[in-house]
Amino acid sequence: MFIRYKNDGKGRSVPVAKIYTQKEHPITNSQIDKDALWAIRKIQQAGGEAYIVGGAIRDILLGRKPKDFDIATSLSPRQVQRLFWNARIIGRRFRIVHLFFSGKIIEVTTFRSDEENFEDGRNNLYGTIEQDAKRRDFSINSLYYNPSNGQLLDFNDALGDFRKRVIRSLIPLSYTFSEDPVRMIRALKYQATTGFELKRDVRKAIKKNAACIETCSTSRLTEEIAKILSSGSSYEILTNLRKYGLLQFILPCWSMYASLDAVRAALEDLDKRVRDSRNDGEPVTKERQLYALIKPLVVYENTAEASAEEVFHEIFRQAKVLISPMTPPNYELEKAVDMIMQDLGIRRARIKRSAEARAPKKKPNTLGRKSAANEELSVVPSKKRKRKRKKSNKNGRVEGVAEPKTLAEEHDL
Ligand code: ATP
Ligand code: MG
Repeated sequence: MFIRYKNDGKGRSVPVAKIYTQKEHPITNSQIDKDALWAIRKIQQAGGEAYIVGGAIRDILLGRKPKDFDIATSLSPRQVQRLFWNARIIGRRFRIVHLFFSGKIIEVTTFRSDEENFEDGRNNLYGTIEQDAKRRDFSINSLYYNPSNGQLLDFNDALGDFRKRVIRSLIPLSYTFSEDPVRMIRALKYQATTGFELKRDVRKAIKKNAACIETCSTSRLTEEIAKILSSGSSYEILTNLRKYGLLQFILPCWSMYASLDAVRAALEDLDKRVRDSRNDGEPVTKERQLYALIKPLVVYENTAEASAEEVFHEIFRQAKVLISPMTPPNYELEKAVDMIMQDLGIRRARIKRSAEARAPKKKPNTLGRKSAANEELSVVPSKKRKRKRKKSNKNGRVEGVAEPKTLAEEHDL
């Protein structure tokens, strides 16, 4: 192990990080996604620093297969974008780069400064790796791995916390949760998924700041809920969110029924499926996850007069209300409703076929899609919409059509 030092400005050397060599930690390049390795090599060849950071390293250290790979770099978002044909800059305040690959997105984030600067209306001041390490939410998410030399950089004694099995906030508790309330959800998620202890002061701070969650954008909450449903610990996490007074703000309608036995059974069944899928490799679909959330709570009286389509629309409407303000893509919700229809023994042959035809062949990214249900509800005739789409304004922007958005575009990070 090496120690990285820096000058403290008074001529003294102070330690800033522990650097573990390849032999001193269990992470190897074979556990890293090959596209992430390729992207890191490209950034480093262009003269930038680049590391795998965050959840992927945490998961590997826990002996799990990472779900996604995030890269931290010294290059600015523009510099990164110029290197890759498949890059797109997103985010309003803190800009990050998404690299699009078949069926996955790799997020590239420039080292974030620990100073805030609102002079230009943004707080996207970029900084050094050391500053970036202090801006990460929890110590277990703050390790950096360099695949080119196998070194693991630890600025926050994160490995010590892995040994102690604790979740420690790196940002002072006096403002971390009011600055970004989503961190409270993340803390409870990691408590359940790692089995680590959430320190008492963190638990107290969550209780104190619970109501701040109301200020979060729907897209970020949707993203977190989606991660919870695919975590394999959804029942425990949602129960804890309720215990800490957060759930009523995240899923106001659904939370009223969260203590029902049927809800518990559906979530436990989902968690089992997710955990089993880690062994057999076949991932649990998004619609199955949504199905677990809505199935126990949909109320439907089977009347002979209602057509299959009417039943579908009624269940779809109820599902939307139950999970509001969460906004998953409509085609996922439609498929979840179709599963409930199947349980009821009702076939919706025509619409089902068309919905399936529209569904993406590969794993979808987060770009918005039209759905069968929405198209039917739409008040603009399709011809008119087509004409509108062609009309551009002076800036070359298309009028009448929303710019394509990803969930992450809404991020304030
Ligand atoms: P998971 O996807 O399972 O939640 P993750 O750690 O990969 O795990 P991401 O949302 O992909 O989570 O974020 C990547 C990394 O960015 C995190 O590991 C953490 O270091 C940092 N991060 C994410 N969200 C925040 C936040 N709200 N505040 C501070 N740091 C964050
Ligand atoms: Mg991640």
